Amino acid sequence: MSDGCQLSLLDCEDELLTIAGEVEIAHFLEASSMVVKGTYDLSLVEGSITTPRDIERIQQIRRASKRLVTIGACATAGGIQALRNFQDIDEYLSIVYATPHYISTLSTSTPIAQHVPVDFELQGCPINKQQLLEVIHAFLHQRKPDIPAYSVCVECKLRGTVCVMVAHGTPCLGPITHAGCGAICPAYRRGCYGCFGPQETPNMVSLSKHLSQLGVSQSGRRRVLQTFNAYAKPFRQESMSYENENNQD
Ligand code: SF4
Ligand code: SF4
Repeated sequence: MSDGCQLSLLDCEDELLTIAGEVEIAHFLEASSMVVKGTYDLSLVEGSITTPRDIERIQQIRRASKRLVTIGACATAGGIQALRNFQDIDEYLSIVYATPHYISTLSTSTPIAQHVPVDFELQGCPINKQQLLEVIHAFLHQRKPDIPAYSVCVECKLRGTVCVMVAHGTPCLGPITHAGCGAICPAYRRGCYGCFGPQETPNMVSLSKHLSQLGVSQSGRRRVLQTFNAYAKPFRQESMSYENENNQD
């Protein structure tokens, strides 16, 4: 679990003042030690499910919440800690910890939606604060959040950024990545590395083929897909298809 998404919410301090009259914050230990008992109108949950205790807590939160929104790559895709899902967790424990039997953990790190019904998932590592405010506004007024499902490429076009992949041959995950950051990396002539996770309809095969034509090996493509959103279904399936191929690189 990371605090980055909670900090995004704290970073909204000016904007939150404009809706302060409409909300009462009930349980947000990063901001206040005060805890109000449920039922809650809207619960924003970050972090993945990595321990048996997490499973109990998320079920309690779901029961106490009319609406549940997950925020960030950990909550929506399992986060960077989901890299364990591709390996043997017991082997890691024995290498990393002097007394591994003190560690109580699941063998996988999984998204919240794999355990309880979720009303909306807001992607990003960390999330975009304007998108978070839009989600809060939308649920306050009982409408669907206006969060675009298109790719980072569209954001590139909207801000007039020259495509680094076409112009410079720089590998970029923008075509398969969810919008939300405003295409920051290409604006600084860097390729996108997918921190907002998969867009709604990513063409994984096409991008993989293009990266291959740019000289990115199978192991290189696997490495760029297995980061913050490694366990998001399209990224996971594509990266695992490389591992299953006999003819590597
Ligand atoms: S730089 Fe990347 S995100 Fe931008 S248009 Fe090109 S491929 Fe898409
Ligand atoms: S890695 Fe991609 S999604 Fe993340 S900030 Fe950079 S351009 Fe945006």
